Amino acid sequence: MSEAIVDLDAIAHNAELIAHRSGPAAVMAVVKADAFGHGMIEVARTVLAHGASWLGVATAQEALRLRAAGITAPVLSWLHGVGTDFRSPIRADVDLSVSSVAHVNAIAACAADLGRTASVHLKLDTGLSRGGAPERQWPALVRAARNLERHGLVRVRGVWSHLISADDPDSAHTSAQLARFDHAVAFAREAGLDPELRHVANSAAALNSPRSAYELVRPGIGLYGVEPVAGRRFGLRAALTLRGHILLVKDVPAGTGVSYGHDYATPRDGRLALVPLGYADGVPRLAGGRAQVRIGGRRRPIAGRIAMDQFVVDLGALAAQPGDDVVLLAPEQHGGPTVDEWAQWARTLPHEIFTGIGDRVPRRYLGGAAAHTSTEGNTVV
Ligand SMILES: *Cc1c(COP(=O)(O)O)cnc(C)c1O
Repeated sequence: MSEAIVDLDAIAHNAELIAHRSGPAAVMAVVKADAFGHGMIEVARTVLAHGASWLGVATAQEALRLRAAGITAPVLSWLHGVGTDFRSPIRADVDLSVSSVAHVNAIAACAADLGRTASVHLKLDTGLSRGGAPERQWPALVRAARNLERHGLVRVRGVWSHLISADDPDSAHTSAQLARFDHAVAFAREAGLDPELRHVANSAAALNSPRSAYELVRPGIGLYGVEPVAGRRFGLRAALTLRGHILLVKDVPAGTGVSYGHDYATPRDGRLALVPLGYADGVPRLAGGRAQVRIGGRRRPIAGRIAMDQFVVDLGALAAQPGDDVVLLAPEQHGGPTVDEWAQWARTLPHEIFTGIGDRVPRRYLGGAAAHTSTEGNTVV
């Protein structure tokens, strides 16, 4: 059986550690993209019991999934166009991020339709050049939001931004961004807004930049056990183990070409093992030629190209049988390979490795309230 085993106790530990380090700021646990592949509902319940009081997601659909699971904690959703139907998230008490006058007007129109007040967080673009209002549009956005607040259609609960280089402790970007942010908050207060939450810090900033914590921090990757600041260790614990098994073993002579294009040939007589996981399951094709897996406690190389559904391991002289476990990814203290190793092999970030793990891989949960298998979004074992 292939499976991704998620240790909820490790996630609980990470949430508590981040909450402790960034206190008295509150913690908004970022559970977008199925909690970075770890399972959104299970992770949300775990972090809310261990120091987080908010949840953060990208899309309104993600927020509504949390509500459908009975989670009532405050949720902020931050990535929608002006044309979104905001009625469902407003009805579900989901806070919405706002980047422009047109955006806040669209939200207010939906709130008026429902006879409700929408809770919004105004986003300032302090330099990342993604979402958020550019500084020159900030005054107009603030005035529009204040006007709608007077009419009871919106309530500006937060003001926020996102950092450029929080993972680099020596970056000059952070202080420049915080100065712009403070300036914008002061402007909003003078215009009559009274946002109770200012938030800019991702995991790296929450752990390493106390000045950026304000009232709320937004950790993602740190909750999943990846140390986010170059050259520093805070004691986070990896939570995810990705396991497969051997489907077939064959003896081959030296010089046997393996997988498409024969990029790899066996250096000596030995054995090959076939593993039924591929890039459709999140084993990055780009890692072929560099990646290793662990079989019977030994590291062995992936031989040749990783295919959509399968890859081949050069066992060398290692005796292994069909059905034996193959560990693709595991916490460092269990012998790895770690997500950081995979990220290097695939020339990417741990975030992309985690979020790439596909739907064909069932998630199983350890620790937390009870060990169980997800019945939502993934196949039941
Ligand atoms: C994904 C995301 C985060 C979490 O960032 P990490 O670096 O994973 O901690 C925080 N804020 C926003 C706006 C995000 O999109």
